[in-house]
Amino acid sequence: MAALAMRKYSRVARAAEAKAKKQPLRDMTAPETADAIREDRKKGAKRVRGGSKGQRFFSVRNRKFWNFTNWPRTYWARKWEKKDFFYAAIFGLIHAGACLAPFHFTWKAFACFFFGYVLTGMFGITLSYHRQLAHLSFKSPKIVEYFLAYCGCLAVQSHPINWVSSHRHHHGATDTANDVHSPKDGFWWAHAGWLLDQKGTWMRVDRSNADDLNKQWFYRFLAKTYPIHALVLPIVGLYLFGGLPCVLWGFFARVVWTWHVTWAVNSVSHVWGFQDWNTGDISMNNWLIGILAFGEGWHNNHHAFETSCRHGLWLGKPPVRYPLIYRVHKVGF
Ligand SMILES: [Zn+2]
Ligand SMILES: [Zn+2]
Repeated sequence: MAALAMRKYSRVARAAEAKAKKQPLRDMTAPETADAIREDRKKGAKRVRGGSKGQRFFSVRNRKFWNFTNWPRTYWARKWEKKDFFYAAIFGLIHAGACLAPFHFTWKAFACFFFGYVLTGMFGITLSYHRQLAHLSFKSPKIVEYFLAYCGCLAVQSHPINWVSSHRHHHGATDTANDVHSPKDGFWWAHAGWLLDQKGTWMRVDRSNADDLNKQWFYRFLAKTYPIHALVLPIVGLYLFGGLPCVLWGFFARVVWTWHVTWAVNSVSHVWGFQDWNTGDISMNNWLIGILAFGEGWHNNHHAFETSCRHGLWLGKPPVRYPLIYRVHKVGF
């Protein structure tokens, strides 16, 4: 009898154990190539031409820009996944379209560019994706949250579940072995290289840290139909609105500009600037990126106080977006 009870108990316990051990969305095992794992890669600073004088030119407060390649990446001579080729092709095409924009300049088209930059960069990426969704810094009615998230979709930086998951991984392991995009792997890696290397960012495949979004039908819907919202609708809409110039400026140039501004937060703001807080990572406060990225350049402040809505905590550092968040927050109550 006791043995039977024991057996029954162990079966129940095993089932509970299996349930407790939450399965990741995808296989989380690290790839075997040393290239993907930082500890296994050869460490070493890269010397810049011109010797120490050249190094100093690039440094602020003795931080040597090129020395950030602590764990060098192999950018080209690696096995490219199918997805890497696909992403590289999309990036290449959109950059090529942006190069054509200056030949088709009209003020109407430029207005599309500027309006799109504010709508997708400020409302979409910084306000929605970053502040509201990734860090849960403020609350708003669902309809406002979903509208802002839709603006974020238009920035062609992937759907909210992907973006938020990557960003939470970044905060969970800033500038350590498990950071998705640290300049310690190289400046270009932190800027855009990581986006072209699925295997090198293997920790990104675990999206369980964005379960709060995955539970909502709206974000699952955006994930399933993402290319329609990010590519098809804006291009068709802008073409109907103002023909080719509006497409080139309002989509191609705007997407490229907003990409590089967002990416600069990951690269430039982890290399150049000043550290006001001892965060233990290499995040920096950088005024130029602060202005371009609607306040995101106060990145050292951000890593010190992740959920704070205010980036510029002190006088002299204009809290660019705080009044806006405050207003959106007010609308909700
Ligand atoms: Zn953040
Ligand atoms: Zn960061």
